[in-house]
Amino acid sequence: MRDKMQKQVKAGRPRGLAGRLGRLRRIGSTLVVLGLVLAVGLAAAPLVEQPEEEALALALLGKTIVIDAGHGGFDPGAIGVSGVQEKDVNLAVSRRVADLLRQVGASVIETRTEDIALAESKREDIHRRVAIAEENDAGLFITIQANSIPQGQYRGGQVFYAAESVEGRALSESIQQSMQSVLQNTDRKAKSIENIYVVNNLAVTSIVVETGFLSNAEEEALLADSRYQQLVAYAVFLGIVGYYSGQPVSGF
Ligand SMILES: [Zn+2]
Repeated sequence: MRDKMQKQVKAGRPRGLAGRLGRLRRIGSTLVVLGLVLAVGLAAAPLVEQPEEEALALALLGKTIVIDAGHGGFDPGAIGVSGVQEKDVNLAVSRRVADLLRQVGASVIETRTEDIALAESKREDIHRRVAIAEENDAGLFITIQANSIPQGQYRGGQVFYAAESVEGRALSESIQQSMQSVLQNTDRKAKSIENIYVVNNLAVTSIVVETGFLSNAEEEALLADSRYQQLVAYAVFLGIVGYYSGQPVSGF
């Protein structure tokens, strides 16, 4: 996908990857607490020290969300400048998004949990992914992808939705906003897109999350890093919570 905007990570930020990961660990503890509360029932809610956070997390309780790790098996997707395969990045990020969503009570369906295709042909594989969302009467279909273009300088995660989808746009903008605040390395905006089968052929709200550019050497290295994958997953998760709760969520 071509894009004229050139994005660069600004040097000397007050909060680097380490700082954001420290914050993420604290968030992880909060999510564990929330998960425990959900496990023992709402009667235990007073045990939670942050009631507002709990209310936000409860926004996802019982929601059915399909997380689609793009490509897989015979189909590697894009290949990064150093050989990182998109299918692997997509799966790693998707599994983390699914974990986070489950911790707050969402019903998550993953289209794949290992390095496989869903059919023998690319066409059937895509149809199968759409069918999974329809068969499960999902509320959201979120496909996790990574970008690649011939020019190496472009970078930054970006979320895409079908132009006519009001809900898709709201969800995309929420995730884009949390990607900006969590990753702090892009000011890209959520954008409408055409001719993407999973976005344009699903009755349920469906969007594409492009986590970054494998054609950019620095971003390729980040996307292959498990700590950065967790940050990306957390940004997507926060964006989904923000969408369902109807208010922007900057963090837990
Ligand atoms: Zn892809």
